Amino acid sequence: MRQILNMNNYNDILSIQNWFPQLNDKNNILIAGPCSAETEEQVLNTAIAISKIPEAEIFRAGIWKPRTRPGSFEGVGEIGLEWLKKVKEKTGLLTCVEVATVEHIKLCKEHKDSVDILWIGARTTVNPFSVQELADVLLNCNKPIMIKNPVNPDLNLWIGAIERIYKSGIKKIAAVHRGFSAFEPSKLRNIPKWEIPIELKIQFPDLSIINDPSHIAGKPEYIAEIAQYALDLNMNGLMIETHINPKAALSDAKQQITPKELSELLKKLEYRLPENDNPNFNNNLEQFRYKIDSIDHQILELLSYRMDIVENIAKYKAENNVSILQLKRWREIISNRLKFADEHNLDKDFVKTLLELVHTESIKKQKRIFNLKKES
Ligand code: PEP
Ligand code: MN
Repeated sequence: MRQILNMNNYNDILSIQNWFPQLNDKNNILIAGPCSAETEEQVLNTAIAISKIPEAEIFRAGIWKPRTRPGSFEGVGEIGLEWLKKVKEKTGLLTCVEVATVEHIKLCKEHKDSVDILWIGARTTVNPFSVQELADVLLNCNKPIMIKNPVNPDLNLWIGAIERIYKSGIKKIAAVHRGFSAFEPSKLRNIPKWEIPIELKIQFPDLSIINDPSHIAGKPEYIAEIAQYALDLNMNGLMIETHINPKAALSDAKQQITPKELSELLKKLEYRLPENDNPNFNNNLEQFRYKIDSIDHQILELLSYRMDIVENIAKYKAENNVSILQLKRWREIISNRLKFADEHNLDKDFVKTLLELVHTESIKKQKRIFNLKKES
């Protein structure tokens, strides 16, 4: 049944390397450019400096800027498309721009030699009405599209946007991970919540995911660490905000870096291989994996054994008319297991979550048995 419902596994989504011939042999795609296009000179000077970095293939610049609060710089608009055309002519870089309305897409289509790739920003992905409107006009625009995660940590909203675009017939789709906003103070501007892009990759193995460390970091000093983490997770590329003079930037001035800083940052990053064909390495990896498989089976066998005991306890409690939840016992379990976890170099939060999960399942099981007893 699940198979039938799940007929479309999206395996015809084209990875970003297959969008343009110049990206074919790139393991990691680098997208760089300013948060916003401000003047022709700023755009061209930034692009020329970026084009000298061998890894750089795609130039980004926002020309319609959806700012969180009104009154800040909202982008130069259509004129920016003329500047992007000059970037292409002068540097050979591919270009990409954010679109948020049907009108934006129409203008990108009219200026067909200005923009190669479009992206949907975090504040648009969040709204299925807006995404659907864009999806309805994107197909005849014939440009690849990147979809940033929504501002809130909701994987389904992100997937929903990807599905809407896919359903309109577009196969050149990638996701951009730019982190999630939170009200609580945090050292980062947006919390990465890496588990969300990881889950996205599990559900859409053929979808390229680009990491945007600039919007996660909010400050230049954290960009390298986040970018490295993304590469370690085998993400397919980076989008890094780069400005010829960050201090004077009209948007996101605090997080942009210069092309020179970008070039230095790239030198420090270590690129990981998704796989390695060295037989020795694979042999060793396989040995580790055998151990993990064996341990997982033992964990599951023990869990099953534990649940059998839970069943016996439930029957015993029901016969003696004792309630399921015994708070005192639960508190003892938590404190004693967390002490044990600590002594065994296990993260306490992780162990607590695991125990709570097991406890919830035990209670569910006990309830079932209590109900059966009641019916009999
Ligand atoms: C941007 O890329 O400059 C931007 C506005 O990003 P986001 O949609 O991720 O906030
Ligand atoms: Mn920005």
